[in-house]
Amino acid sequence: MVSRSKLSLTLFFILSSALLTSGASDAGSPSECGPGSMGICYNKSEALRLKIIAIAAILITSMIGVCFPLFSRSVPLLQPNRDLFVLVKAFASGVILATGYMHVMPDSFDCLRSLCLPENPWRKFPFTTFVAMLSATITLMVDSFASSYYKKCCLDENVAGIVEPVNGAVDSENALHCHVRNNKRDEEATMQLLRNRIIAEVLEMGIIVHSIVIGLSLGASQNPCTIKPLVAALCFHQMFEGMGLGGCILQAEYGNKIKAIMVFFFSATTPFGIALGIALSHVYSDTSPTALIVVGLLNASSAGLLNYMALVDLLAHDFMGPKLQSSVKLQLWAYLAVLLGAGGMSLMAKWA
Ligand SMILES: [Zn+2]
Repeated sequence: MVSRSKLSLTLFFILSSALLTSGASDAGSPSECGPGSMGICYNKSEALRLKIIAIAAILITSMIGVCFPLFSRSVPLLQPNRDLFVLVKAFASGVILATGYMHVMPDSFDCLRSLCLPENPWRKFPFTTFVAMLSATITLMVDSFASSYYKKCCLDENVAGIVEPVNGAVDSENALHCHVRNNKRDEEATMQLLRNRIIAEVLEMGIIVHSIVIGLSLGASQNPCTIKPLVAALCFHQMFEGMGLGGCILQAEYGNKIKAIMVFFFSATTPFGIALGIALSHVYSDTSPTALIVVGLLNASSAGLLNYMALVDLLAHDFMGPKLQSSVKLQLWAYLAVLLGAGGMSLMAKWA
């Protein structure tokens, strides 16, 4: 687990350095597509004050959002086998679904169809949906290869371990049978837990792209009139998104240390993006061609990933699972929860 967090950390830095170089290399691009189109409301020191407030406020609200589902474990009504827990999970899945479709995908369209990019090829071919499609397929590939690999290695190992000592003893055939079945159930539970962990980690990676980009554009802005409402919107944005991610982290049943790392990692990304934006505000521009292409392609691949995971790994998996299939009433409530989560997150798309 720790090595995987290390991997995520490395990816995080690769991503941020990619953005950094993209900003720096295009410092001198022309006219309205270059850095610093200043409105009436241009005020550098006031903007900086607001950005520092934003860092603290977003850090705290993200933590509240992502921890909320985690602490819900201590509420008896929210134990995994209770109906309310299913609804919380459905709500979280709805949030993730809307993050992919309503936030990340449109952002990618905005970037890759921007007038600041050359008409050919960027507005001649739908790169966003092409990359999203590829990324969804790759996610499926990783998903299926990883699970068949684990199934093969772990099952073979276990079956060998069980059969050997009892082999030949005809009397204990029944016991063996029972043992194998129990073991298979354990195996399935372990597989499911492993899957949940992969889902939580991959989702965090997918969400992080969006979190950094929104932080970066806030940090690079020098306009207090647009920053003020944006800070409030981003606080809600991160709280909501945190609840979506928190629901998945909860299901992954990590130890406290890994949980804390994942909470910190999610909460710190937008503030990190803002800080990066402040540091680069004189060189980074949202509208420089390299920034547009890098951010657009990253957003497109994270959109494909989020859409696939929300639909297949979260929603379809739960709705087709035994718990929801056994009760139509619970299914209806769960759909309401999905719509609430997706609706709330969609509303946030108005601001960030
Ligand atoms: Zn957003």
